[in-house]
Amino acid sequence: MSIQEIEQQYVVPLYAKRDVALVRGEGCWVFDETGKKYLDFMSNYGPNILGHGHKAFTETVQKQLGTLINCHQSFYNDQRAAMLEAYASVLPKNLNRFFFSNSGTETVEAALKFARAVTGRTQVISTNRAYHGRTLGALAATGVDKYKDPYVPMLEGFVHISYDNIEEMESTISEKTAAVILEPIQGEGGIRIPEKNYLKQVKALCEKHGALLILDEVQTGFRTGTIFGFEHFDVVPDILCLSKAIANGLPMGVTIVSPEVSEKIPKGTHGNTFGGNPLSCAAAAFVINYFKEHKLAEHVAEVGEYFLQQLQALESPVIREVRGKGLMIGLELKDRVTKYLKKMQDAGIIALPAGSTIIRFLPPLVITKEEINWGIARVKDALG
Ligand code: PMP
Repeated sequence: MSIQEIEQQYVVPLYAKRDVALVRGEGCWVFDETGKKYLDFMSNYGPNILGHGHKAFTETVQKQLGTLINCHQSFYNDQRAAMLEAYASVLPKNLNRFFFSNSGTETVEAALKFARAVTGRTQVISTNRAYHGRTLGALAATGVDKYKDPYVPMLEGFVHISYDNIEEMESTISEKTAAVILEPIQGEGGIRIPEKNYLKQVKALCEKHGALLILDEVQTGFRTGTIFGFEHFDVVPDILCLSKAIANGLPMGVTIVSPEVSEKIPKGTHGNTFGGNPLSCAAAAFVINYFKEHKLAEHVAEVGEYFLQQLQALESPVIREVRGKGLMIGLELKDRVTKYLKKMQDAGIIALPAGSTIIRFLPPLVITKEEINWGIARVKDALG
């Protein structure tokens, strides 16, 4: 049987599969089993920010693989300490207590549990089109009914309102609200950037009502031309969720809270086996140090702006709007995206959908203008 046939036979068919088996990567390129190469405009939905087969990253991870892979959090570990110190140097002072896990949805589960325990309240305000993950708590926060309908009843207490609408937030938040959870820029929901003051105003409302602000930066983290998306909006959350990019593709999640929140989380009430493992921590320490040393934030801001401008300059009757920040870019069409994504794939580019009418570009952050030009020419052809 072929690779495709084996997966079709044995995997629960939850995903809309694309007819390619990817077997290798090099820099910003991925290769299928026939050797055909594709420009990677997706980084596996965001994580592979240093591209594929990065030499120094690979050496770091290989060394740690042969040293110690796991170290339960009931023990201390050198790689975990190194990662924590590297992060502490870039985080605001009132946001520096870590909970480790292994995926985006787990970071949100932790955030929701912490918000309940710390405030003694149960209401969580989330937004329409929000995506926070698929485990039952994060799913309840997610704002897309089709993901939830087969799994009702949802966890109680969740209210969904319009994103980027401060009036609705003001009339919904109250002394019952444990937390507001938001993406600084909605990712799966279609690359939606809020008005400049929105997050700051939400934070002020949270403070007024004794609620916590959770920012889900699972997708925005590292990608928008700053390390954290919140830096664009002059706001610091009470709880920050990071995953995807932090370990350049090794599974890892961190939920970072303020010292005040940390103190009130009841000891022994949350945890997991793999969180904070030395392998992922070594990877994450490498990523943050590399990001700083190679000034990747500046690179992302520059090539991201270039990418955006090149897309905005495309003339196609099918384009409705192009928007984005750094290397998180959405191309909204007047049509459904499936056939255009397929055309791009045939021409050697892998991009993503975000909803039914938006093409999303999440390339590795090390992408060059030359590679972007190569891709844009093919995007242009695909859009006709
Ligand atoms: N939050 C956001 C903002 C996301 O974009 C995602 C994944 N697309 C998640 C949470 C869930 O992450 P994971 O798939 O690793 O559980």
